[in-house]
Amino acid sequence: AISVKGLVKRFGAVEVLKNIDVEIKKGEVVCVIGPSGSGKTTMLRCVNLLEQPTAGKIIVNGFEVTDSECDIDAMRRSIGMVFQQFNLFPHLTVLQNLTIAQMKILKRSKDEAEKTARHNLERVGMAHKEAAYPPQLSGGQQQRIAIARSLSMNPDLMLFDEPTSALDPELVGEVLAVMKGLAKEGMTMMVVTHEMAFARDVADRVIFMDGGYVVEEGSAEQVIGNPQHERTKSFMFRVL
Ligand code: ATP
Repeated sequence: AISVKGLVKRFGAVEVLKNIDVEIKKGEVVCVIGPSGSGKTTMLRCVNLLEQPTAGKIIVNGFEVTDSECDIDAMRRSIGMVFQQFNLFPHLTVLQNLTIAQMKILKRSKDEAEKTARHNLERVGMAHKEAAYPPQLSGGQQQRIAIARSLSMNPDLMLFDEPTSALDPELVGEVLAVMKGLAKEGMTMMVVTHEMAFARDVADRVIFMDGGYVVEEGSAEQVIGNPQHERTKSFMFRVL
């Protein structure tokens, strides 16, 4: 679960997040949409402290992230993060990419780590590629591996930052299908995305951001299908 209250983020003199409140309950899938530069990525990165919030209170899986006493490593172990770039190790096999952090950070044995890795490769439809190296795979396959790598750490919650934005259009569907599967299994997910069809199909709730504010939130049906605010309306008009 995530609770964000009064989040402000400044880069120098520029206030990128102005006063953000967001709640995500366990098992909920929330899509964050909005124009380029509205602060979506920065908000997501504040949640796991990849960016230091300027003000506000953030609680993630029971960890008060904005408390200086917070055990940041433990907090991060409870979160899976998937980025636009897959960041796989090119010189390691797919299986090794999935086992290395399990062994180093969670201190799992090689056998246990491989068992977990294979289970998660199965989940993303990549079991047949465990011996391949990332550069031999398509972008869509690499992103599915990156998702399986995150899942192998048994996170309570997954953050996705535009996971399909770097992919060729014909590879987007396979990654979204994997994410939809996770959502169906009950994974708690916050997804920054430009994929309106995905948000409509999968999100329990949609948050529309613009200019560092949450302008509107509600069901996909409400926010995408029947937006109330002018800024949401004009954004939807441009993207749909
Ligand atoms: P996009 O859809 O294009 O990814 P976004 O909604 O995710 O956009 P952010 O990436 O959060 O937007 O950026 C919000 C604003 O913050 C932008 O104006 C960006 O230039 C600025 N910004 C982001 N990171 C930094 C940084 N490290 N230093 C200075 N400004 C930054």
